[in-house]
Amino acid sequence: MNIHEHQAKELLKSYGVPVPKGFVIVDSLKIKEKLENIGKKPQVIKAQIHAGGRGKAGGIKLVNNPSELEKEIIKMLGKKLVTHQTGASGKEVKRLYVEESVEIAKEFYLSCLVDRSSSKIAFISSAEGGVNIEEIAIKNPEKIVTTKIILSSTVEDKDIKKIIEPFNLKEKSAQQAINLIKSIYKAFVETDANLIEINPLILTKDNDIVCLDAKINFDDNALYRHPEIVLLRDFNEEDATEIEASKHGLAYIKLDGKIGCMVNGAGLAMATMDIIKLYGSEPANFLDVGGGASKEKVSAAFKIILSDKNVKGILINIFGGIMRCDVLAQGMVDAAKEVNLSVPLVVRLAGTNVELGKEILKKSNLKIISANNLADAAKKIVEVTK
Ligand code: ADP
Ligand code: MG
Repeated sequence: MNIHEHQAKELLKSYGVPVPKGFVIVDSLKIKEKLENIGKKPQVIKAQIHAGGRGKAGGIKLVNNPSELEKEIIKMLGKKLVTHQTGASGKEVKRLYVEESVEIAKEFYLSCLVDRSSSKIAFISSAEGGVNIEEIAIKNPEKIVTTKIILSSTVEDKDIKKIIEPFNLKEKSAQQAINLIKSIYKAFVETDANLIEINPLILTKDNDIVCLDAKINFDDNALYRHPEIVLLRDFNEEDATEIEASKHGLAYIKLDGKIGCMVNGAGLAMATMDIIKLYGSEPANFLDVGGGASKEKVSAAFKIILSDKNVKGILINIFGGIMRCDVLAQGMVDAAKEVNLSVPLVVRLAGTNVELGKEILKKSNLKIISANNLADAAKKIVEVTK
């Protein structure tokens, strides 16, 4: 789960991480009273969307006085922002964060993440942070330092030293950076985060260390331990179909192809998507119906797949292990009739009572194309959707 920059900053602040003072705006009608309190200091308006690259896309604006601020707020709220992370359709800006403008001497990059390949926590740091970090990663990878640490309750001093080395800080700011790493690590472990990214982390003209941007992603599987974090979820930022799918216990991710997939088990779902590509087409989605694929679930899955107008056919690939194939087949037939299925349907069943299952499909009077194995199924669905 992702959260907004202002929420991430609030959370990090509670761990002692220095962030600029700011406030949130969701409604341009209620800004007058908030603007009265900020005085004449320059402010930065920041579009709150779950995507980076806002700076380069007009989603970060410096303003010098309250009247400029008001004008910019009205301009930005409700606007579609297209950044290199949003895709071409962009994201509507539904909230803004206004924070004090900070005088920047240097911009660094800092992040902390779960490194699955080494089973460690990795800190990534660079002296060259800011809006061009992707370019630096490609052109000057030697400027990016990775420090992997074994998960424990604290970070060792020698690791902290390595992490902050590229920043080349002296005295006061070096000590601030040390404290910052400790705080970020504590926040990371205690909240079950997958990623905390501070880009830019800055050195101010007064030699203070401050976080100017913050992104946090949490491990969904650990959210049950953090009800206070779940409350930060912003459904506006999530795909409506994916939210609907999760209500039915379906793991669904929309993709760009034309073949809808309904599969049980994440591994089988991946294999199904691979083989569709192998036979020259593209999957329209990833969809794992889970272990107990009941009629209700299959029906919900059909509706979700069909809500994507690009879908020209559906491939069902189900392994009946705990669930018997005959029960699954009956569920599919009932669900297909209920949703009035109009696109070609290829079904590959395997497992317990498979023959009985195939019999049910054959007798259903629905135009179901039966397949004998995964390759056969992929070939057939690619053929009928050409
Ligand atoms: P994004 O990563 O989405 O582009 P950032 O929050 O990193 O958005 O902002 C982009 C750039 O805007 C930063 O690298 C920094 O130079 C500038 N910036 C952001 N917040 C402030 C601030 N409070 N004061 C001064 N400059 C800022
Ligand atoms: Mg940033």
